[in-house]
Amino acid sequence: MYKPKILVVEDDPAITNLIRTTLDTQDYQYHTAKNGSGALMDAVSYNADVIILDLGLPDMDGVAIIRKIRGWSNVPIIVVSARSEDQDKVEALDAGADDYLTKPFSIEELLARLRVALRRSRTEETAPQTSSSVYVNGNLTIDYAAGCAYLDGEEVHLTPIEYKLLCVLAKNTGKVLTHNYILKEVWGSALASDTPSLRVFMATLRKKIEQNPSDPKYIQTHIGVGYRMIRQ
Ligand code: CA
Repeated sequence: MYKPKILVVEDDPAITNLIRTTLDTQDYQYHTAKNGSGALMDAVSYNADVIILDLGLPDMDGVAIIRKIRGWSNVPIIVVSARSEDQDKVEALDAGADDYLTKPFSIEELLARLRVALRRSRTEETAPQTSSSVYVNGNLTIDYAAGCAYLDGEEVHLTPIEYKLLCVLAKNTGKVLTHNYILKEVWGSALASDTPSLRVFMATLRKKIEQNPSDPKYIQTHIGVGYRMIRQ
């Protein structure tokens, strides 16, 4: 059986040990790097299925590493950062990271994020973009060609903005999208002042697709960061 390969980039030995111990309990192979230059070399040579990247490295800015990797690879990147580095986390997601963990994190949290990332990399490998003109996730269906969304087979009446918003989230299922990213995709620009209107459209969209909008099952909120479509 194939064992997924994880590249762990972290300069703090205690965190590296926690991640190693966690990965040892699973059927994962891993390789560790302690700095940015090592990470970039390993990103090329190790051919990882997922990269876990600490943003605070001694020699290089984590966001710069993400941009470099994104120049040639779509490998899922999970960013690890301290709470005080919230703005870096948002920047990292905008640069193309897929997800984030805030230190201190639990083993369960780490494993859950890894499962999401691995599922995402597998889906991308097996489903070429061209064949995905219909999106199915639980009871939710989007027919991209017709420009319609359905819940339990019933058409959901969405405004053009709600539909665009839903499509952006659906096309990035499993991935945390920042407010900025969503604003740019839906409205073509990202002003911080637009964030409240994004919240309003998100609320109306949730009313239409979520059974219980106050306990959403499709669209998850990441406070201060953005939103994520959950695979059902
Ligand atoms: Ca660090």
